[in-house]
Amino acid sequence: MNYKHLRNEDIRKIENFRNFKTQTKKIISFFVCVFSIVLFALVGFFYFYNYIDYDKNIKTTGTKTAIEEKYDNTENKNLNHLEENQEEQKIIESKKKDEINSYDFKNWNEKAPEELKIINHFNSLEDFEPKLKIVAGKKINALMAKDLENMIESARKQDIKICISSGYRTYEEQKKIYESAVFQELIHGAENQEEAEKKALFKNAKPAHSEHNIGLAVDFEPPENNETKETMLAWILKHAEEFGFIQRYKDKWANITHTNDKPLHFRYVGIKNAQKINKFGKSLEEYVIKNQNLY
Ligand SMILES: [Zn+2]
Repeated sequence: MNYKHLRNEDIRKIENFRNFKTQTKKIISFFVCVFSIVLFALVGFFYFYNYIDYDKNIKTTGTKTAIEEKYDNTENKNLNHLEENQEEQKIIESKKKDEINSYDFKNWNEKAPEELKIINHFNSLEDFEPKLKIVAGKKINALMAKDLENMIESARKQDIKICISSGYRTYEEQKKIYESAVFQELIHGAENQEEAEKKALFKNAKPAHSEHNIGLAVDFEPPENNETKETMLAWILKHAEEFGFIQRYKDKWANITHTNDKPLHFRYVGIKNAQKINKFGKSLEEYVIKNQNLY
């Protein structure tokens, strides 16, 4: 800069101002530098502290962090709780088992759809009058007529002939069959009436306690010899559920159904229920109890 035209005093002022500017710049640079160092140190310390903390967690818990440990503890608590529940469930199940074979389905039968009403040794449906239809020469509950017809037709297309020996039975017919069964027991070794009745009850239901009473059961029969019977039964066992039928009585359920093995007696429960019951693999009574929240 050319100072020749300025006075000495002015030149000094300018010099002072320039010095002041240089000093200020230095001070600002110093503070920026210090601030950066402090900031850098703080960030470094923060990460280092976290690293120590993480390391400490690993040391205290072996291989897991505190969070993982906490999660595991919660899970263990849940597992313990689950085990307790399962234990409780087992007790309830065994208690139920004792109760099922004499379980009163009265309330259930009042609200249940026709195809799921329970009729057995302990539960009668005396006043029930089904709407009837004739299929394959036998009276049956109209509710299952269509499915039964379809089933017989479907079997016929595969050269399997299915006949029905019994469908709906009136109270009088049931009474006759039951009395005849008791008589048979008496002539085949039962010591007295009581014993004969007890034995007969596992083969034939008391009047109004039979599924034939509501017309939702059929006893299938083969048209000719035993060989046909096996072929027919094999086909029925494979396909019955597609038409809403289940094999109702097996020896393994006798403590619940109070009826011995009856391979040719099938009960109509509707297609969806039949499939579910077969998948469930237990008796109709147990299926109803499990799925309809009776307990
Ligand atoms: Zn039957």
